[in-house]
Amino acid sequence: MTDQTHDPALQSWVESANEAGTDFPVQNLPYGMFRDSRDGLARLGVAIGTQVLDVTAAFGLKSMKAVMEKPKAERVDLRRRISGFLLTRERGSEGLLTPMAAAELLPPCEIGDYSDFYASIHHATNVGTMFRPDNPLMPNYKWLPVGYHGRASSIVLSGTRVRRPRGQLVDNPAGPPVYGESRRVDYELELGALLGPGNAMGEPIPAEQAASHLFGVCLLNDWSARDIQTWEYQPLGPFLSKSFATSIAPWVVTMEALEPFRCAPEPRPASDPQPLPHLATGGHDAYSITLEVWLRSARMAGPMRLSRGNFSTMYWTLAQMVAHHASNGCPLRPGDLIGSGTVSGPLKENRGCLLEATCRGTEPIELPTGETRRFLEDGDEVILRGWCEAAGARRIGLGECRGVVEAALAP
Ligand code: CA
Repeated sequence: MTDQTHDPALQSWVESANEAGTDFPVQNLPYGMFRDSRDGLARLGVAIGTQVLDVTAAFGLKSMKAVMEKPKAERVDLRRRISGFLLTRERGSEGLLTPMAAAELLPPCEIGDYSDFYASIHHATNVGTMFRPDNPLMPNYKWLPVGYHGRASSIVLSGTRVRRPRGQLVDNPAGPPVYGESRRVDYELELGALLGPGNAMGEPIPAEQAASHLFGVCLLNDWSARDIQTWEYQPLGPFLSKSFATSIAPWVVTMEALEPFRCAPEPRPASDPQPLPHLATGGHDAYSITLEVWLRSARMAGPMRLSRGNFSTMYWTLAQMVAHHASNGCPLRPGDLIGSGTVSGPLKENRGCLLEATCRGTEPIELPTGETRRFLEDGDEVILRGWCEAAGARRIGLGECRGVVEAALAP
């Protein structure tokens, strides 16, 4: 439900929040952790224009976890109070602002568990067709959101350099595998969702309540080594091809901020099964979020856009992923992270990873420098961007998630 905090006419006394192109107007209020250079302490902040509001000093909340674990109604109330603070200037309010450019941004929280899904049917079909031309989708795909358990220890904040991994790969299909550096490093454009209140072990989350267990979303890059993946993924799914690094953006846009952009998922074809009752979340729990990938090689002056898609084209919603994840009684906890899976749409320009965009490397992308890319080279920077627009709503953004690929360590 939208409320007064979503009114597109609202203007903050923080003037940079009122500029047309900002990702962080007063209608957004994404949370992030930052370190204050004055006392060196980690604090909870809210992005507002080009500034960070010190929520720890203003509202006494020491961490994002302290907000995540609150019930939905309390999170809605806190949003109203932060909105009010940024709408009406009080004496001394400016003292609680830090320029974002001067703040050291920190990871949102210690990620508990990380699970990654595969919720775009366009991505699953494109990738499935490359590996199994006559059988791209497994029989379970339209019945449950397929996922695997990822690795929380290698989740890094945007801006962290990502080292090219080594692993087992098969250079010569007739010969044995070798242990060497991956030559098929890829990005995956995803949305990450951080969990709010959890469930007790053994108690599934009812489908209609699943959305209230979501805290917020951030941009997520699920770096992938395709050559390692090809060799290892059967029968138990991806493992070391994914766990070398996953980047997340520092700003977590709350589910409350996304309310004006909530929409019905794309209708399923009549021949597809309807979700079973435990995954029937009500049908209005998709989100219209434009998501883009940009690439800048070491020789390029500025980045070039590689793809643009929309999160509303996903076959499964975040709430369905939550309901499915807990449906066996597995406890989810505040600060757990789920990845949506690569966000790809029906068109070639919507393909959210190089594996798809270059058709497994067979159709290289040409860069303005004359360079070509089948997969990522050392020095390449991948930049994810995202934002929401809708009639009658103020545009809000998710900021950026960046990472540069650096050379593998010498063997
Ligand atoms: Ca993924």
